[in-house]
Amino acid sequence: MPDFIHVLLGLALGYVISSYVESFMHEYVSDAHPKAVRAWSRAPWLFRPLINTHFSHHTIHHVRTFRNDHITQFRSEEEKKKLTEELVQRGKHGLTIIRGAFATRLHGEGAFVFVSPLVIFFPLFYFTLKPIGFLAGCVTLLLPPFMSHFVHPYLHRPFEEGQRTAPRWLAWFLGTRYGRAIYRNHFLHHRYGGVSNFNLVLGADYVRGRTRVLTPKDLEVMANIGMPLPEDAAVPPAEALRG
Ligand SMILES: [Zn+2]
Ligand SMILES: [Zn+2]
Repeated sequence: MPDFIHVLLGLALGYVISSYVESFMHEYVSDAHPKAVRAWSRAPWLFRPLINTHFSHHTIHHVRTFRNDHITQFRSEEEKKKLTEELVQRGKHGLTIIRGAFATRLHGEGAFVFVSPLVIFFPLFYFTLKPIGFLAGCVTLLLPPFMSHFVHPYLHRPFEEGQRTAPRWLAWFLGTRYGRAIYRNHFLHHRYGGVSNFNLVLGADYVRGRTRVLTPKDLEVMANIGMPLPEDAAVPPAEALRG
């Protein structure tokens, strides 16, 4: 097989696997059902990484922050101070959460849990593809932690702010059709309590039937907080709604 086929194969396989693993792990670990979390808690020595990932992502990122809206992490300095104190009490894991901007960026153990299921695919690619195809596969396999660390923080800010403040390459990426679709997917993920729209590496949510369609009310809320709307959306721009 020619080299370019190996490269394409590496990129494509890496992407599909990434998207799947991300959607699956986000649903069953990061935003796991309370029943699952209770079961893990019976053997914390075994399930500590899963318990911690769920706590930092679901409890802190979904429940204890962004309570007012999708772009406001804390309603007041008081609220931030209280949560900081609680997390300090929790020890090492609490400090890791604080350092990751209250679980907005991938940090510490969370990164490990995110990447661990992907690890088995590195040797698989290594032994089945030419070196160039393996390298291409590594790029797409590493997309989920890359998205969580670099892209996710901007998804919780108005689109225009990201265009002004993100590094140039990232602002470009966020402004593409794909980047805008990630904003919308993540908005829906938070708006309905973390039960659908799991991907930042888009794709598997659709195949797994885990997407939700934007309603007119969703579009109105999105316009108000400066999320990028679909091109065919029939809602007035944010300025008009505010005025
Ligand atoms: Zn988020
Ligand atoms: Zn989530």
